[in-house]
Amino acid sequence: MIPVQGFKGQSVGVLGLGRSGLATARALKAGGAIPLCWDDNLAARNSAMAEDLEVKDLSRQGAFDGVACLITSPGIPHLYPAPNPVIVAAWAAGVPVDNDIGLFFRSFAAQGFEDFDTIPRVVAVTGSNGKSTTSALIHHLLTHAGKPAQLAGNIGRGVLDIDAPQDGGVVVLELSSYQTDLARALTPDVAVFTNLSPDHLDRHGGIGGYFAAKRRLFAEGGPDRAVIGVDETEGQYLANQMAEGASDDRVIQVSVGRKLTGPGWHVFARKGFLSEYRKGKQVGSIDLRDIKGLPGAHNHQNACAAYAVCRTLGLAPRVIEEGMKTYGGLPHRSQIVAEVGGVTYVNDSKATNVDSATKALSAFKNIRWICGGLEKEGGLAALAEAAGDVRRAYVIGREAAAFAVGLKGIEAEVCTTMEQAVTRATEDAEAGDTVLLAPAAASFDQYDNFEQRGEDFTARVKAVLGL
Ligand code: ADP
Repeated sequence: MIPVQGFKGQSVGVLGLGRSGLATARALKAGGAIPLCWDDNLAARNSAMAEDLEVKDLSRQGAFDGVACLITSPGIPHLYPAPNPVIVAAWAAGVPVDNDIGLFFRSFAAQGFEDFDTIPRVVAVTGSNGKSTTSALIHHLLTHAGKPAQLAGNIGRGVLDIDAPQDGGVVVLELSSYQTDLARALTPDVAVFTNLSPDHLDRHGGIGGYFAAKRRLFAEGGPDRAVIGVDETEGQYLANQMAEGASDDRVIQVSVGRKLTGPGWHVFARKGFLSEYRKGKQVGSIDLRDIKGLPGAHNHQNACAAYAVCRTLGLAPRVIEEGMKTYGGLPHRSQIVAEVGGVTYVNDSKATNVDSATKALSAFKNIRWICGGLEKEGGLAALAEAAGDVRRAYVIGREAAAFAVGLKGIEAEVCTTMEQAVTRATEDAEAGDTVLLAPAAASFDQYDNFEQRGEDFTARVKAVLGL
């Protein structure tokens, strides 16, 4: 645990008592603060009480009297579509609103760093897609190279829940836009921006607000190194803003598909090969085509970003390459769950938006595509362009019929349930086909979350195949 510094003897409100909220309350207590915990949900309040944490209704009149700060959870809106009333009350009382990430950056460096030979470092990864994969890959590569590393944030443990930093250790944080938007301190040593495509627009008042939230990771503290995907305009803008000029190697530009030139530091992947160029010279290359845990161009983008981070942390290209070969992938992201009779079954339940599903579609051939669910803003038009290798779509979700209509030019069958979709796709599949779950939609119409959807897919596949 990282005890929170700076609030000794003071009351701090904690709104939202999920995994990160409870970890925050514990870390505040360990640092000598008095956390006052609240959640609208009774079961969540009970779990706080079971840990002897003080529960206080923060929605009551005067609840913020004498409170030093309010810490909120990422799931609670603070601006759009409408701010949570407890947050509005904190504003009205003049109480600063922060989150666990802000507390982490204030508290992390206070842990007796002067005794270390190598100061621990923090890598923070943000972007629309590929955050978890990039973060997990960085963590894997560092661990494989024998460096002490911890993975936290949106993936793995809550940030305040991690072990005390070690000499030469690296903390890899995956940060969502909800988290970067609110944190009052954001000072990673290395910051990564993977890419940008529309998502969570309701929470950010549109794409401008969404990008602004992500950009704070670079604007607030000024990381020593920025690894930036420049395949979209926003990434190009950000890379330009962070650099003093073309040869400023505090910025490492990343691209998939484009050869990056110039005197700076560049990592890019083309046709399955990763290349690193520095000061106009090639200094590293990796053949990514046979790396099973990282299929498709989108994963090559993640590989480039992770490679760039590890290079800034001092790993040699060959050491990184060895590590990539042993990367096993994350559940629900391009995860092979069965291979029977020449048919491969891939669980990419995490493809919850059109962009990520597009990327998943371009990573495979002869696809029996299971898609559908709660459609996000922006429509499905982009899917049709990426669906050249789709043999047929098997549409799930409560609104499956409407979703199927949106898949213009793709042969689509309305299946509604996962069971029906897996059964039908298996009946149709021939050797060489891939049955791919890449929904391009949220799961909440039929499942609690994307993990449950992916587990259902995997279970149905095993049942249908008799595994
Ligand atoms: P995040 O944590 O940002 O949601 P993940 O690594 O969990 O990212 O991947 C989410 C989904 O996005 C996966 O389903 C995968 O197919 C897709 N994806 C992964 N990396 C990328 C990328 N670099 N660009 C676009 N899509 C990606």
